[in-house]
Amino acid sequence: MVDVFKSFTRRDILYSAAAVGRSALLLGTMDAWGMGFASTASAPPALQGSGKGKKILILGAGLAGLTAAFELGKLGYECTVLEARAFAGGRCQTARKGFSLTELGGDKQVCGFDEGLYINHGPWRIPLHHQSTLYYTRQFNIPLEVMVNDNDHSWVYMENAGPLSKQRLKPAQLKADMRGHVAELLAKSVRSKLLDQQLGANDRELLLDYLANEGHLDAKDLAYKGRSGRGYALNPGAGIAPGAGTPSDPLGFGTLLASNLGKVYSAVQDFPMQNTMFEPVGGMDAIPLAFAKRLKRAIRYNAEVQTLRQDAGGVTVTVKDTASGKLSSLSADYCLCTIPLSVLRNVDSDFSAPFKAAIKAVVYTPVGKIGLQMRRRFWEEDDQIYGGHVLTDQKGINVISLPSTGWQGKKGVLLGYYNYMMDAIEVSALSPQGRAEFALAAGQNIFPAYRSSFESAFSVAWHRVQYNLGGWAEWSDETRKAAYPLLVEGEGRVLLAGEHLSYLTGWQAGAIESAWQQIEKIHQRASRERT
Ligand SMILES: Cc1cc2nc3c(=O)[nH]c(=O)nc-3n(C[C@H](O)[C@H](O)[C@H](O)COP(=O)(O)OP(=O)(O)OC[C@H]3O[C@@H](n4cnc5c(N)ncnc54)[C@H](O)[C@@H]3O)c2cc1C
Repeated sequence: MVDVFKSFTRRDILYSAAAVGRSALLLGTMDAWGMGFASTASAPPALQGSGKGKKILILGAGLAGLTAAFELGKLGYECTVLEARAFAGGRCQTARKGFSLTELGGDKQVCGFDEGLYINHGPWRIPLHHQSTLYYTRQFNIPLEVMVNDNDHSWVYMENAGPLSKQRLKPAQLKADMRGHVAELLAKSVRSKLLDQQLGANDRELLLDYLANEGHLDAKDLAYKGRSGRGYALNPGAGIAPGAGTPSDPLGFGTLLASNLGKVYSAVQDFPMQNTMFEPVGGMDAIPLAFAKRLKRAIRYNAEVQTLRQDAGGVTVTVKDTASGKLSSLSADYCLCTIPLSVLRNVDSDFSAPFKAAIKAVVYTPVGKIGLQMRRRFWEEDDQIYGGHVLTDQKGINVISLPSTGWQGKKGVLLGYYNYMMDAIEVSALSPQGRAEFALAAGQNIFPAYRSSFESAFSVAWHRVQYNLGGWAEWSDETRKAAYPLLVEGEGRVLLAGEHLSYLTGWQAGAIESAWQQIEKIHQRASRERT
């Protein structure tokens, strides 16, 4: 997997690392690239004073635009949110029965999942560290459930894993055996005095104690002989048979090393992927829906912003009503533009040449997802897998994720792939039926009942979605240095906000916290004008 992605960008490499291993490698790279951090803001800025008498145009009703309108509205600003789509939420969408999507140059898809089933084809998880997102789920009383982001009893299935290729393995086995073997090696080295130069007598004993516990080593010969946590050959039960059950044999150290699968998991999960992970009950779009309910008529839907002009006194935009084709213009004192840069670059504006160049400098990641409705929850019934991810190196799949909701129900919708970059581009060239077929062929290699259980699919290729044209902003070191400060500063009476103006790109928290920062600036400027 990793080599497939070798030449790709940061987020891509991170995801391939996450797929092949939430490893020390991943944690190290994330910190080095400035992406592995928790959000630090946990509440909107406490703004003093009043916005009464001032008008703000907010372009886009994604989470950045909604947050800004909600918070500025509380201060008395007259906010108008202009949203090109017929609904609020932007990327924060949930596909359920009747939801439709026509990608650029693509066929219209209408989601045909059964009532109550859905796929979060945009954002799907809220890490515990994203207190800004959780601030609003709490504010709006949106019920949350745990999203199983880590499941030791799911499958790992790799086609290129040497002696362990094309086998269904459990993370529990891999973790237990790899750590057991390494602990044994180290413990024996300590006991053979090979580490005497590094360790004093007391530390040697303490380390041996730790290793024996960590690796579940035999007290006498310090050998790793397996442990119950890796699973049984025959599970324990009642009476004589199965009785105490039959322990399973560990995978050999040499086999594990040759497979490279020891790199799949590290002892510590990388920062944004740690437990506890949440999801709103019933779909992620509960968050924008809660905002929209409160903002009511402040949002103008089907309002595609086409031009953006400003002078010393204010900002004027031209808007096309996408339903009627009618053009109108609106003016305000300030504008907060949350249109993704991938789209904004094509909006006719009077930004300065350097500002326009900065907008154009940022690339967006191609990303694809597919939801597959299955008539039977075979992963639970046949394999006892309750949520979590199946990691695979099958090209274009990356991960199959099992739902964290509807346990032991009849049907379920699973995520059939989550692909990036070239893989996403290639798979997105297929028709919706072709994408489903592609996903089914790969899933069938892992689950015997995959294809026969399939009922319907809904897929998205975000780089082909109008008004987004990509999954999220992909900053390089160069663009962070040159373009980022310029864009964060804004120009004249126009400020920008969105996930792209954060170090939490590709997260809702990035959109929310960016909005929090920018509304504070707007309020400061507007307040200065007033005095
Ligand atoms: C596949 C995928 C998975 C993700 N997973 C997660 C996750 O698990 N957890 C998480 O927290 N985040 C996740 N994210 C990221 C999260 O969805 C985004 O960071 C966040 O939703 C971005 O919000 P935004 O307001 O910045 O942009 P957007 O949501 O894109 O909002 C911009 C708005 O501008 C509108 N617009 C565009 N052009 C115009 C125009 N000309 N006129 C008027 N309006 C216009 C758009 O319609 C849109 O509503 C994921 C994203 C994707 C794509």
